[in-house]
Amino acid sequence: MTTYQIPPLVASKVSPSAHALLQKVHHFVETECVPADAVFDAQQPTNPAKRFLNTYPTIIDALKARARARGLWNLFLSQKHYPEGVPLTNLEYGLMAEIMGRSLIASEAMNCSAPDTGNMEVLAKYGSPAQKAQWLTPLLEGKIRSAFAMTERHRASADAKNINLEITRQGNEYVLNGTKWWSSGAGDPRCKVYLVMGKSEASNPNPYKQQSVVIVPAGTPGVQVRRVLSVYGYDDAPHGHCEITFNNVHVPLENMVLGPGHGFEIIQGRLGPGRIHHCMRSIGAAERALEYMIARVNDPDRKTFGKLLSEHGSILEWIAKSRIEIDAGRLLVLNAADKIDNSDAKGAVSLIAQAKIYVPSMSLAVIDRAVQAHGAAGISQDFPLARMWAHQRTLRIADGPDEVHLNQLGRAENKRSKEM
Ligand SMILES: Cc1cc2nc3c(=O)[nH]c(=O)nc-3n(C[C@H](O)[C@H](O)[C@H](O)COP(=O)(O)OP(=O)(O)OC[C@H]3O[C@@H](n4cnc5c(N)ncnc54)[C@H](O)[C@@H]3O)c2cc1C
Repeated sequence: MTTYQIPPLVASKVSPSAHALLQKVHHFVETECVPADAVFDAQQPTNPAKRFLNTYPTIIDALKARARARGLWNLFLSQKHYPEGVPLTNLEYGLMAEIMGRSLIASEAMNCSAPDTGNMEVLAKYGSPAQKAQWLTPLLEGKIRSAFAMTERHRASADAKNINLEITRQGNEYVLNGTKWWSSGAGDPRCKVYLVMGKSEASNPNPYKQQSVVIVPAGTPGVQVRRVLSVYGYDDAPHGHCEITFNNVHVPLENMVLGPGHGFEIIQGRLGPGRIHHCMRSIGAAERALEYMIARVNDPDRKTFGKLLSEHGSILEWIAKSRIEIDAGRLLVLNAADKIDNSDAKGAVSLIAQAKIYVPSMSLAVIDRAVQAHGAAGISQDFPLARMWAHQRTLRIADGPDEVHLNQLGRAENKRSKEM
């Protein structure tokens, strides 16, 4: 196994302690998580009826214990913005997230996986002391998991103003009525809490002040996980992307996060750094796909027309393009991470959008070339490429579709040039 090399352009921004931690993350991912990916799959029930809300692969508990003992824990939560966090910058964590992206389960093993990361950030930033004690502490300890329920089946949810689940006040309680879907993670039996976005202030003339976020413990009467959606045929067990109905669900007033009408503020705060985390993991996935491609095209047993695949010009071009695109994507993400470190997520909004738009498409293109270089094997279950492609494809939709980010970025750029 090689040692980890920090990209030279950002080496001076990485502290000696973060440098040492990066080597540890690299070693842990390569020697323990990547080999455990197959064990994780093998430990899942094959019976579809038992894959959700039932059990989870126990290999993850062993990995979590080892990661925590080595200080590889909650690395996403920067102390600069959160007192509960670790002394790492977003840029330093970005480099670590890229390494985590090489394995299916490394992020969870280090308590750095979505949607818990975003939910922990919300609770750390906006939660009351009681909300933090009840939900943030066990999440930070990796004892429970969580889901974020915003998207609705019958509403175009790319525009969060459309979100329509009803939140009404009755005495000392809020009552929720509506249906959510694509609530990722709600299929996991360890998922004990949902952060639910809904409309509580319908009469507010400002449409950005009508939404609120309420904490709903899983298992509250009236909550029903109805089904799990698939991603190009993958069920993503035990995590799952779930449709959940909320039928007269009562929660105390204290379960509102930050206060009525603050839903937009919360989702903006939640999604900014989270988008960068996804991007860095995507770059790790693209790097891994390129490694698969290079190994395959140099396999002496797979010559065509008398040549190794790597001796055909078109294949060399794929390798070259992939290297350029991965390196360009990494620079975009690190640039955004650095801006978050030196201002905040709001100040970095355009740079985050650039990375969010570019990186998933880039990663998809690299993985697709790797698939093609493998021939039929590339789309089969014998290589991780097909699953990686399916996952990366979702990132052009999840956390807001490309087009929405392109519109926002275009508007900001247009305005900026007029002001110059
Ligand atoms: C794997 C996965 C996991 C997810 N996890 C979660 C989760 O945990 N919690 C949660 O709440 N949601 C989750 N989602 C849902 C995701 O956030 C939504 O799918 C997304 O916000 C888009 O909403 P929509 O599907 O309703 O698409 P729509 O709003 O119906 O948009 C459809 C399409 O219209 C186009 N479009 C929309 N707006 C514009 C525009 N301004 N300009 C040009 N074109 C536009 C885009 O091409 C877009 O893809 C997840 C989705 C996936 C695929």
